[in-house]
Amino acid sequence: MGAEIDFTTFRNVINGELTSTEQTRHGINPATGNPNPEVPVSTPTDVDAAVEAGLVAFKSWSKTSRKVREQALLGFTGAITRYREQLTKLLVQEQGKPVMFANGEVDGALAFLRSIVNLKLEEEIVEDTEDRQVIVRFTPLGLAVGIVPWNAPLVIAVMKIAPAVLTGNTIIIKPSPFTPYCDLKLVEIAQQFFPPGVVQVLSGDDSLGPWLTAHPGPAKISFTGSSATGKKVMESASKTLKRVTLELGGNDPAIICADVDVDKVAPKIAMSSFANAGQICVAIKRIYVHESIYEKFREAIVRATAALKVGEGNEPGVFLGPVQNSMQFEKVKTFFADIEKEKWNVAIGAKGDMGKPGYFFEPTIIDKPPADSRIVVEEPFGPIVPLLTWNDEAAVIEAANNTKMGLGASVWSSDLEQARRIGDQIEAGIVWINKHFDACFEAPFGGHKESGIGYEGGLGGLKGFCNAQTININKNL
Ligand code: NAD
Repeated sequence: MGAEIDFTTFRNVINGELTSTEQTRHGINPATGNPNPEVPVSTPTDVDAAVEAGLVAFKSWSKTSRKVREQALLGFTGAITRYREQLTKLLVQEQGKPVMFANGEVDGALAFLRSIVNLKLEEEIVEDTEDRQVIVRFTPLGLAVGIVPWNAPLVIAVMKIAPAVLTGNTIIIKPSPFTPYCDLKLVEIAQQFFPPGVVQVLSGDDSLGPWLTAHPGPAKISFTGSSATGKKVMESASKTLKRVTLELGGNDPAIICADVDVDKVAPKIAMSSFANAGQICVAIKRIYVHESIYEKFREAIVRATAALKVGEGNEPGVFLGPVQNSMQFEKVKTFFADIEKEKWNVAIGAKGDMGKPGYFFEPTIIDKPPADSRIVVEEPFGPIVPLLTWNDEAAVIEAANNTKMGLGASVWSSDLEQARRIGDQIEAGIVWINKHFDACFEAPFGGHKESGIGYEGGLGGLKGFCNAQTININKNL
């Protein structure tokens, strides 16, 4: 495969080769409604070919040294850096996010890659006496499948490829049909550093995910997407007892205590609610403000939200792009329709039709909707968020935990003791204090309850792609 990557044609990568399919399809630029380039629609024959190649490649890749895998990942990192401009442009075009966030996503992928090569999953000697030595080691599982959603296609694919190959596995990436472009190019770039069959990608329609999860070849499914699909993936994987890691939906609460500097905190809450037009698994989706500062906080967050520009991702100063696809647009519209139906008070926003092409909404804050309303209970995954009030610590903790989700949460207070006291009682995989979103790649990233099973990040993330093996030696035969 040549060294120069062409960013205008898009093909699968099977066994180191760029391949096309008889049938093709295309995504839509969500900011303009224009069609993006054609991509393959993989068939069961393509799935069989990729699985076969992944299993064959596993035999030799799993025996390579850690050094070889690390070098390949570092080469991949360098190439992503070289192609960052093209990847960023493509990400804006396929996903709709503004340039600064597309840049941030590429940066996040690069930071993840640079950090993971420092993680060492080494053999552990858990007992060593005169009579016996007991060693725990971690061996690769085999061929993995990485199923990627449409909200952050580039960084999420990288977060699956890197731990899989570093631990000696091979992997097939399956992008969302809405956002296949960056993932196809990433894997094409990877061919310059990995032997054929180690990193592959298949683009397709809605049949492709179920074909891969049901196929007897793969040993592991690493899935990121909605909780509803995660349940289907687990059900399908259970037939062949594939390992699963499920990174699923969220309904993150932010608890704002009475002592915060309102003018400093409110803009941060607005940005953490409306970044990527609310389409982030760990976006703030419920804002609980102490009643003593409620009016002042509402004024400040309305001011901050009014300053957030909505538009096409390449327009200067745009903070919110469109919702990514027509299916999600229709779903988010139902929450906007509820405003009138349920007689919710609106603090700001409410416009569902921005009078321009593309799937745009105004960033919208609902003022004190009932605790059991859809906007509080469900994950809209769009730029609409409820502002709620509290006055009793135990009650706000109970409200924050009163959900099937448990991905992220944040507590905001200048009294760090109070913040920790509240944070420690929140049922969520990540609890931030006085911030939201900040990623630490050495620490677990995953959900409690219906937000997921297993986690990515840190040594535990590497272990998710491994079998544990105990070697128990009798020294005195
Ligand atoms: P989705 O569940 O609709 O799709 C995710 C992926 O699964 C896509 O590639 C899709 O083609 C594939 N898929 C769909 N049905 C399948 C099936 N039956 N078997 C196998 N694969 C199948 O999710 P989405 O709408 O793309 O993404 C939005 C959701 O993802 C939100 O709920 C969000 O919170 C969640 N998410 C979670 C994280 C996390 O790390 N926890 C990160 C990003 C997004």
